[in-house]
Amino acid sequence: MSVAPASLRDEFPLLAAAPQLHYLDSAATAQIHRLALDAVVCHETTCRANVSRGTYRLAEAADLAYEQARQTAARFLNASSADEVIFTSGATAALNLVAHSFGGTLKAGDRVLISVAEHHSNFVPWQMLRERTGIELALIPVLASGQLDLAHLSELIDSNCRLVAVTQCSNVTGAWTDVATLVAAARKVGAKVLLDGAQGAQHGPQDVRALGIDFYAFSGHKCFGPGGVGVLWGRGELLAAMPPFLTGGGMIAEVTPAETTWAPPPQRFEAGTPPIAQAVGLAAALEWMMSLDWLQIHARENRLCELLIEGLQRIPGLRLLGPEASAERAPIVSFEIPGLHPHDICQVLDAHNLALRGGHHCAQPLLAALGAEVCTRASIALYSDEADIEALLDGLRFALQELT
Ligand code: PMP
Repeated sequence: MSVAPASLRDEFPLLAAAPQLHYLDSAATAQIHRLALDAVVCHETTCRANVSRGTYRLAEAADLAYEQARQTAARFLNASSADEVIFTSGATAALNLVAHSFGGTLKAGDRVLISVAEHHSNFVPWQMLRERTGIELALIPVLASGQLDLAHLSELIDSNCRLVAVTQCSNVTGAWTDVATLVAAARKVGAKVLLDGAQGAQHGPQDVRALGIDFYAFSGHKCFGPGGVGVLWGRGELLAAMPPFLTGGGMIAEVTPAETTWAPPPQRFEAGTPPIAQAVGLAAALEWMMSLDWLQIHARENRLCELLIEGLQRIPGLRLLGPEASAERAPIVSFEIPGLHPHDICQVLDAHNLALRGGHHCAQPLLAALGAEVCTRASIALYSDEADIEALLDGLRFALQELT
């Protein structure tokens, strides 16, 4: 069953309660869907107990809800097994998990290839790994459009390369990564591929098997679910060979004073009490996402993105970052206005009920490569509409009058 996009805004309690709000910061956090919120409340009021520990009925209900959430996340990703799904606190935790656990199996001289376009959460963990183990950290450069420059890939992905870890979609320029080309090059030398799906997953269910990748990370709060939960998917045989990252309760097979043996994945990677109600809420959001007509949604998001870009191009002096063609980008549009700081722009826009983000967007290497220090970002989601875009263009005209 597909849902008519026009009615989507009403399905988000915060947006329904604030008709005057133009929320254009969904790349930072998307609004939570009513079904996700209801699922959290329902879980906390009928099933709240710890998981994997209790033998009473309430604890069994909690276990069932949590494991069903894992199965839903596996379906959202088209994973071959729910055991390949690890719940984390978010994409950042998922990326750190891979950098510590898979990264811990690498040795000095092994290469990890990331890109200049990475969010800091897929940049800094690899720099830390380089400090700990002496791996070589190499960077795929970016073109002026912010897209990855894959021209010299065969030099970067050679037999020393163990892992290619890149963003699926830039949180600054919206540029989609050419995953197929990267996967083909990595396969030739036996390197693994990690996709940071923090921005990608918001734009529809994924097929990790068709993508041909080895790890996929995303956050619940950007996929219309609760905060504090995210997913790391990893190929079963890779996870089985990886040591744990965090240690403690729930992730062991046996502890003796002499030594500890590990539980199999996914429990091996879920030390301590996991985000149970959050995972249940996320599953409701993902279930809802799987019911949508994504062709229709992408067409609508692209139309809004084009409308915004056309309007921005009419503003004298404004510099747009990112690819020109809307098909090459998610509906994330960043821009600079010479002489105006994004924080000032965002403050004026806020006075007009427009929520946008300005700053370095946790992507300082990318901004430096694009010749900018900071920029203003508008991010469109499936509940955005023409009124949001018109309000933003009007708001920018006010900002220009007030600030120049
Ligand atoms: N990667 C990218 C591309 C992102 O945009 C973000 C969030 N801005 C993250 C990783 C980190 O996500 P989180 O803060 O939810 O852990």
